[in-house]
Parts: sequence; C-alpha cells; structure tokens
Amino acid sequence: MMKKNMKNSLQIKEINHGIACRIGNTIYYNKSLKQYPELFKAILEHEKKHTEGFSMSDVFLDLKNEEIAKFKRQYYRFILQNPSSLTEFLPCWKYEEKLVWNPSIAILWGVLLGGLWLIAFLLK
Ligand SMILES: [Zn+2]
Repeated sequence: MMKKNMKNSLQIKEINHGIACRIGNTIYYNKSLKQYPELFKAILEHEKKHTEGFSMSDVFLDLKNEEIAKFKRQYYRFILQNPSSLTEFLPCWKYEEKLVWNPSIAILWGVLLGGLWLIAFLLK
C-alpha cells in the first residue's frame, strides 16, 4: 500500500507531444489527451504505478498495460488523430530540454532490431 502523502509529491505537467510518461516524480502528458477523459484517467493511473527510477517492474507494467486495455480503441484513435503522440515510441526524446531515454521502448526496439538482424542473418 502506498501512503497518500507519497502520491501528493507527484507533479503532473502538460506537454504537446508523446502520450504520457513518468520521469522521476513528474508525470508528463500530451495535452490533447484531455479530449479523451476516460483514457486520460486510465493513463494517469498507469503512470502513477511506475517507479521513480527504473526497474524491471516498470517494463512488466508497460507490457501488461492493463489500465489502458479497456480503452484500446480510444488509445489508437488518439494516436491517429495526434501524430505528435508518436514520439512516445522513440527510444528517447527531449523533455524540458533534457534528452530522456524510455527504457521500455528502448528494449522493445532492441528486440525488434535483434529479430530483424537474426532474420537477415538466417536468410543469407
Ligand atoms: Zn508505462
């Protein structure tokens, strides 16, 4: 159980790209998300579950992503209507002038590129 006062120290900031992410104690979200209130709430719930730093539990959290599962349709509609959200899927992006890695996405790209490399290697 998390104590209430720990959650209170979380800051929530609006940005104009990506979907949402947590960096330390700050949750950044794309301001266009507010047009999808249910999805927005689910995403905030998800981000609150992330740790301040980074651990394997964060990767599992992103793989399961059960908070957003109920709102998958809204999620994809949001992405299609807001191409700026696609920066979410890059392994790193600038947040407040700082380049920030997204370890979950970086791992995903690593697996994807590793798989492609393996296929290319096997087809040689
Ligand atoms: Zn996440």
